[in-house]
Amino acid sequence: MATIPTTAAVSHVGKVRASNQDSGYLGRNLFVVADGMGGHAGGDVASHIAAQRIAEADQPYASPEEAVTALHEALIAANGLLAETVFDHSELTGMGTTVSALARVGDTFALAHIGDSRVYRFRAGELTQITTDHTFVQRLVESGRITPEEAAVHPRRAVLMRVLGDVDASPEIDTEILDVRPGDRWMMCSDGLSGYVSEEKMTQVLGTIRTAQGAADRLVKESLDHGAPDNVTVLLIDIDDSAGASGAEPVFVGSASHPLTFGRDEEEVRRPIRLPTLLLHPLKPTPPDDAHFEPESEGYLDELIEEDRRRAIRRRILWGVGVGLAAAAIVMAGWLGYRWTQMHYFVGVSDGNVAIFQGVQQSVGPISLSSVYQTTSISVGELPAYQRDLVEATINADSLRDAHQIVDRLSAAAGE
Ligand code: CA
Repeated sequence: MATIPTTAAVSHVGKVRASNQDSGYLGRNLFVVADGMGGHAGGDVASHIAAQRIAEADQPYASPEEAVTALHEALIAANGLLAETVFDHSELTGMGTTVSALARVGDTFALAHIGDSRVYRFRAGELTQITTDHTFVQRLVESGRITPEEAAVHPRRAVLMRVLGDVDASPEIDTEILDVRPGDRWMMCSDGLSGYVSEEKMTQVLGTIRTAQGAADRLVKESLDHGAPDNVTVLLIDIDDSAGASGAEPVFVGSASHPLTFGRDEEEVRRPIRLPTLLLHPLKPTPPDDAHFEPESEGYLDELIEEDRRRAIRRRILWGVGVGLAAAAIVMAGWLGYRWTQMHYFVGVSDGNVAIFQGVQQSVGPISLSSVYQTTSISVGELPAYQRDLVEATINADSLRDAHQIVDRLSAAAGE
């Protein structure tokens, strides 16, 4: 009877990047995702070396504690290997890679993790992020400076605080022992997935597509549908009732699946394929900021936090200036409107006498738009009934001169 594989690994270069700097390993007991970084042809080398070196730890372990120790040692060994490679190939200076690794031991997973690739557990319809990103923005979230939503679009979201590479001889690696249950679906991915596909969408795909391969393919397709500006790698591990080790042949995906080559000088960014992309997405995908590693120096962290604070202040100032300008525009418009009304005159009654008014007869709320400009000695009572009615209803004048002429006529009428 043919059995459906319970694990799957897919790695795609994406729609914008020139090369795939991600690597993945789908082994018997061990699963690895590595997302490399570094200028020219460095990231693919870094993730390749790390994935291949860590895959050597794919063996049965007697206990999860033993597996955690072995994974930790494997990551440290990979770190050393990266440093040696940079020593021999100085053009690779600055290369680094994230690593998330899971080793199955009975009903547990041993985890070792550094960087911003992610491990998720999908259990009973609920998706839980297991790993913590070692990013600058995650620091800001943890310290309460920004929300996770702000982190997702923060201009510095590509800055990693911890990776394997040629910088630190003993990088700080997160390790953990996790319980595993039949029916669980575990997902490992690079930020080419988690940075562009929402957790709601991931949950929906994981909850509806039964086979591991089908779900992994679909998740990668979701990233491609979002423009896939970055390389994207997904590993899926479905936990069934069997003891653990998958019978499938181990497989590498991404950079680690190709022979290692050095010194390529490719164009860093491939032109996106326009037509189908434009048809599906009006927005042209742009390559994300290159992920890069910043050593865990407090000075640099302080600098970034200070920069973030300045950005917040700039935002507040811009907002304040915007509000101020809008208020000034309203005041200006009001003043110009008032000025316009004050260029008009009419003749009416003030305290029983004929008077020239400046402004217009209307009022805005409690504000009258007219005032007495000049009173006359003509009592309204002296006027013939017809003129009296006209004056009481107010007589518009075309100008101040016209107003005076109206008064002169009324004066003559009063004297008759
Ligand atoms: Ca990436």
